[in-house]
Amino acid sequence: MARAFIGFGGNIGDTRQLITDAIICLAQRAELHILAKSCFYQSAPVEATGGDYINAVIEIETELSPYGLLHVCQAIEQEFGRERPYANAPRTLDLDILSFEGVTQNETELMLPHPKIIERSFVLLPLLEIAPDFFLPNLGELKAYLPKVAHQRIEKLPCRNCNCGEKDVYSQTAH
Ligand code: ADP
Ligand code: MG
Repeated sequence: MARAFIGFGGNIGDTRQLITDAIICLAQRAELHILAKSCFYQSAPVEATGGDYINAVIEIETELSPYGLLHVCQAIEQEFGRERPYANAPRTLDLDILSFEGVTQNETELMLPHPKIIERSFVLLPLLEIAPDFFLPNLGELKAYLPKVAHQRIEKLPCRNCNCGEKDVYSQTAH
């Protein structure tokens, strides 16, 4: 089993609901297990157009390969109406694999860890909420990069039925 982190973002429609539904879709798959989910964050677009984004990060464990997980993420993007009219266009739902166990690769179709993790507050904040000591071999502790993104506008949204950082909220045994 590999541990991986997936980042969600979108700025068209009811993104909070879309992310919630996408996480439920993932939770229903036998090949992966959701370990933790961050709160929702609202962030200003970074290198992108349109209105504010809603973001969240989950931690999973999975039997899938990195590309297997990418294809699952892309299928969910399609299911939720993702279109790619041009680079960095507003989007209903974007799923990015932020890291996949110890895998490091620089293939255009799947870069791991995601090369922009440390440049984006909308990734760092939710990721560090559920994994405060998250560490990458070539980068060290990710919390060290927070000051560099402090100028990017972001706020944590109040949680309904708050499960902030709680482990095993989606575990099959919990239901
Ligand atoms: P964005 O860069 O804004 O996330 P897209 O979601 O349209 O844009 O992704 C563009 C391409 O990035 C996809 O075709 C995908 O194969 C590739 N990609 C590379 N690394 C990753 C990753 N770690 N997670 C998800 N997609 C990735
Ligand atoms: Mg993407």
